[in-house]
Amino acid sequence: MRSPRQPTRRFLAGDGLARRLLAGVAATAIALAACSSGTDSSGVPGTDPNGATTTPPISGSADPAAPTTTPSPSTTDPTDASASTSTSTTSASTTSTSTSTSTTSTSTSTSTSTTTTTSTLPAGTVAESVDLTADVVVLGTSVEGREITAERYGTPGGRRVLVIGVIHGNEDGGVPIVDDLRRRAVAEELSPDVELWLVPSMNPDGQFAQIRQNANQVDLNRNFPLRWGPIGAPGDSQYAGAGPASEPETRAMVSFMEQLRPDLALWYHQDANLIIPSNGRDGRIRARYAELSGLPVEDCCAGGVYTGVAATWARELTSDQDGAAFIVELPGGDLPDDQVTRHADTVATIISELATI
Ligand SMILES: [Zn+2]
Repeated sequence: MRSPRQPTRRFLAGDGLARRLLAGVAATAIALAACSSGTDSSGVPGTDPNGATTTPPISGSADPAAPTTTPSPSTTDPTDASASTSTSTTSASTTSTSTSTSTTSTSTSTSTSTTTTTSTLPAGTVAESVDLTADVVVLGTSVEGREITAERYGTPGGRRVLVIGVIHGNEDGGVPIVDDLRRRAVAEELSPDVELWLVPSMNPDGQFAQIRQNANQVDLNRNFPLRWGPIGAPGDSQYAGAGPASEPETRAMVSFMEQLRPDLALWYHQDANLIIPSNGRDGRIRARYAELSGLPVEDCCAGGVYTGVAATWARELTSDQDGAAFIVELPGGDLPDDQVTRHADTVATIISELATI
């Protein structure tokens, strides 16, 4: 039994996120299946990087995990990231530079219910690298200066599983699941072969304000630097930002995940109540998650055009190791306790099967 932890919080920041990911961003819009979400308002028509007017994000749409159609023959299905080909590049802007000094503090992280963590770090800080042997690391700070943290549990060197509780601020039903996973990890109830990383929220400003976007009104799940395309304008529910990874929250996660290279990454969303199918190992893990959790595997809401999706970027990142990354669309509202338990059970089972799935 591991004793109660007093996690050491360490932070290492450099000169901002390396931009190498941003060179080679495929500027190709992809039509993806979309899911319902009561939190979205009507989007506005966007224009994909090929110059074609795209279908406006449909009202009520949430996050696609995997595209099922493509708007042009030049695009490839991101569910099969290894087959993806970048056909054009988008130069990256270098709008932010982090120069924070290292900080060390101690705290006991037992709950993710608060999103009001203040930081001594400047707003918009991005950690160029973090200490992956620390119990808690600060990945950076949000537009309004709230810390984005990652907590490490399990066995160092084990298969790395990353669970992100919140990306859309008003879709925070995954938080109690993260809390449950933390409790199980501390109690050493999880597979000993796994190094579990929990990011309670990568959008603390949006969670605090209970809005979908970050404080710059950017939909972070349209802002990742793979196949980024412009969508909307500030105020639109799926505004993709000024460019790929324009937001500090996105850059913090990109930098962290480039280092971590998780075998499995999960993002919780609401409220489409499904998992979108995929192929290969990613598809098998999705199907297993669906089977165990009771969520249906379904496409939904085709017609929207989505780009810069976090899970798609993550699959590309880890394609050489056949990594999996997908969205779990929970039902809306507060998750009943039995559902929280069921999802935590599901994650626990899946991570115990990762070596063979
Ligand atoms: Zn969402």
